[in-house]
Amino acid sequence: MDPFSDTLQRLREAFRSGRTRPAEFRAAQLKGLGRFLQDHKKLLQEALAQDLHKSVTESEISEISLTQGEVNLALRNLRTWMKDEKVTKNLATQLDSAFIRKEPFGLALIISPWNYPVNLSLVPLVGALAAGNCVVLKPSEISKNTEQVLAEVLPQYLDQNCFAVVQGGPEETGQLLKHKFDYIFFTGSPRVGKIVMAAATEHLTPITLELGGKNPCYVDDNCDPQTVANRVVWFRCYNTGQTCVAPDYVLCSPEMQERLLPAMQSAITRFYGDDPRSSPNLGRIINEKHFQRLQGLLGCGRVAIGGQSDERDRYIAPTVLVDVQQTEPVMQEEIFGPILPILTVRSLDEAIDFINRREKPLALYAFSTSNQVVKQVLARTSSGTFGGNDGFMFMTLSSLPFGGVGNSGMGKYHGKFSFDTFSHHRACLLAHSGLEKLKEIRYPPYSVCRLRL
Ligand code: NAD
Repeated sequence: MDPFSDTLQRLREAFRSGRTRPAEFRAAQLKGLGRFLQDHKKLLQEALAQDLHKSVTESEISEISLTQGEVNLALRNLRTWMKDEKVTKNLATQLDSAFIRKEPFGLALIISPWNYPVNLSLVPLVGALAAGNCVVLKPSEISKNTEQVLAEVLPQYLDQNCFAVVQGGPEETGQLLKHKFDYIFFTGSPRVGKIVMAAATEHLTPITLELGGKNPCYVDDNCDPQTVANRVVWFRCYNTGQTCVAPDYVLCSPEMQERLLPAMQSAITRFYGDDPRSSPNLGRIINEKHFQRLQGLLGCGRVAIGGQSDERDRYIAPTVLVDVQQTEPVMQEEIFGPILPILTVRSLDEAIDFINRREKPLALYAFSTSNQVVKQVLARTSSGTFGGNDGFMFMTLSSLPFGGVGNSGMGKYHGKFSFDTFSHHRACLLAHSGLEKLKEIRYPPYSVCRLRL
């Protein structure tokens, strides 16, 4: 007995009925989502604290307010985004009407990870609802407290004939993916991304993959080490390093490494105190499996800063590693924790070559007081996103598309990009029903007239 058939059938029928298409319905769903965020802010904060030891400030900034901002933006722009887009015409279609209609795909599936379990479930949901789809949301089973709130409370704020939450891990998701969806939006690891894409292929379902990887951070000799250290340490340790766009390793000269190390130590002490373990601003590793994995990575290279860990509360200290070999595990896998290796290079060219020999990352960072250096890194590399002289502040702009390239994913979202992702762009030409005399010159026999369209 398939546990999902009834739910999916209910949602499909609701979509076929046409109820999700009018702007009024979409706006009502978005308002419901906004109310959920307001009414249950505290519940969500508590769940995030239980799952990730996430501070109230980080929960507010990167989970709740950010999502609320996306809801508000969609509500303000919904009717404009939905409007048919007129396009230019050629001579033969001058008297016709040519436009792009943004229509919902139908039934969309959103699969999300555990590291920003509110944001990464609900920001895609904003796009899917605004675009008029019915939606199945499959949050991560690993952030189980947040999953519970999303499954039990959120549906009360949305039309339950058009929206459902499915709970479960790999097995349940595998079963769910056997069904045909009209769009799949997946956020998670490249490994699982391949599984989801293979399942989508079976039904030729269009898909967005928001994946991860190793994000390089080049630090030029022309830099103020303390400014760089403040920015890199904060973005590395934000959400305890469990962020897909976090700088994953630093590339710099041996001289810059010597200047960066005391500056990084000073930034860590300033942000998290002499004993980061007791800081309310540093979270914990999500589960035992990831804790063990990260503890293993502490054995790579040489610990220059930090290195402490405690299994009892899955604590890993903000850590900087030096003398790391490229072949060691810390340089072979995405770190996803508060550990930062520094690798030394002799020149900008060597750094760019190092980056370009690896998979295209989700984010790439370059620090230099010389704009020329930052622009060179930008021009000679490729990544989903790029930050010059800062961390992932680009995430705060709904006006920028967010997504990976190559191994870090395909597709984009945030703001209007989310609406466009969840909309089929239908090419439409409405011809004049008369004027046959004018159109007649198109028909065979062609030798009579050579028409240039
Ligand atoms: P994951 O790939 O293990 O899991 C993601 C989702 O897939 C979860 O809902 C999970 O239940 C499901 N899943 C897991 N195994 C499955 C399987 N075998 N078959 C079908 N579904 C399966 O990722 P995660 O550990 O939750 O998150 C960490 C990863 O996500 C990192 O690689 C990180 O970089 C990436 N990430 C990317 C972004 C982005 O926006 N690009 C954001 C956050 C996280």
